[in-house]
Amino acid sequence: MSDSRAGDDPVDAKLLMGSCLCGGVRYRAEGPLTLVTRCHCLQCRKQSGAEFATNASLENDRFELLEGEALLRDFESSPGEKRIFCGQCGSSILKRSAASPDFVRLRLGCLDSDFDQKIQIRIFTESRLAISEFSDDIPSFETLPGAASSDPKSD
Ligand SMILES: [Zn+2]
Ligand SMILES: [Zn+2]
Repeated sequence: MSDSRAGDDPVDAKLLMGSCLCGGVRYRAEGPLTLVTRCHCLQCRKQSGAEFATNASLENDRFELLEGEALLRDFESSPGEKRIFCGQCGSSILKRSAASPDFVRLRLGCLDSDFDQKIQIRIFTESRLAISEFSDDIPSFETLPGAASSDPKSD
């Protein structure tokens, strides 16, 4: 067997479990995650109530809602960009974008599983709060890297 961990590791590192604050919404996601991003855009700040959100993408078929579909609400924060959250406790779960219908953009703060991937970039730093100081080597961008005028204004 080529993977020496197979069989003796009870947790598959690529299987991620997540839930909302009240526990009514639960999901599983199969990694690896892509575009692991720390976003300081105003929309992520407002929705999370935090300085930034950490978001990542995965294909639709790697995301499975286990519980709580009836609790989910969405808010179209920009045209074609729906932020989906728990209507009972307010936790941000994911975003769906009409421009990328095959992917979900997961809000990693709701993960119950830890994961070993690194933050790849930091974006929309032009919208950061002054208290957000960076002392790491994560590449930072004022908006999106290589932004075009048609790109979304949030993550
Ligand atoms: Zn909830
Ligand atoms: Zn954002």
